[in-house]
Amino acid sequence: MLMRISSNKVKSIKQFFKQELKDIYPIEEIQGFIFLAFEHYLGYSKTDVLLNDEKTVSESELLKFNFLVKDLKKQKPIQYILGKTEFYGLNFNVAPGVLIPRPETEELVEMIIKENKDRNQLNILDIGTGSGCIAISLKKYLPMASVFAFDISKDALNIAQGNALLNDVEVNFEQVDILNYNEFSHGIMLDIIVSNPPYVLKSEKELMQKNVLDHEPHLALFVNDNEPFLFYKAIGAYAKEYLKDNGILYFEINEKYDHEIIAVFKEMGFSNCSVIKDLNGKNRFLRVNK
Ligand code: GLN
Repeated sequence: MLMRISSNKVKSIKQFFKQELKDIYPIEEIQGFIFLAFEHYLGYSKTDVLLNDEKTVSESELLKFNFLVKDLKKQKPIQYILGKTEFYGLNFNVAPGVLIPRPETEELVEMIIKENKDRNQLNILDIGTGSGCIAISLKKYLPMASVFAFDISKDALNIAQGNALLNDVEVNFEQVDILNYNEFSHGIMLDIIVSNPPYVLKSEKELMQKNVLDHEPHLALFVNDNEPFLFYKAIGAYAKEYLKDNGILYFEINEKYDHEIIAVFKEMGFSNCSVIKDLNGKNRFLRVNK
């Protein structure tokens, strides 16, 4: 049963969050929720939240905090509840039809920007774009590039389109199932192909957190145990046709299968493969040169 917030004061709202959520989330995470909620509903900065304990909010605002805590108790991700998140310093709208952008993926974007910022004209394709976070941040920080993005899901493409508008960049989105890409050709030769495809094995489900498993799109996360490299193979085949001879492939990968994924690309005739660790020291990214 949800308690009532004891008064309209900021300090009571903060207490309410901590009291109601302490059995489910660590205190640092609850503190993060408090900051995000006050920013979203009242436009408060972190300092405002810390320094205005005695300030009061209206009944209808109080109700919003109440509903938020109710949803958080169900372990619904706060990004879906508020409908937004930040990625690489940019704002993105998110909904349950797309994966919530991850910090690891920011590292992938950063690597691509660093390695390619001095090049002139670039054609970049993001396969399985979801919210559009990779494609849009690349276009924002490599403005001379032409950026294309595929997704199988119309729902995801609508969200991604909205995010391109929100960030004031032009990305060419196409509904493409990369496993059947023969139906689609834009005939453009690419310098870079990037993808964060589904790479979690269905048998790894039990290792995942409830908030991910119950709320995020399984289409974007999971592959069958008997075909763990399905998307890497399909993207490799696509790259054979549409990646320029000196082109580069960048991937996010399942840290447990770096050797196997490299073997997949070697077998397809790609030469230079390097695995890059993420900030947690896990083998998280793969760069393949054609
Ligand atoms: N890293 C994501 C997770 O842990 C998975 C992303 C993916 O499957 N591409 O939930």
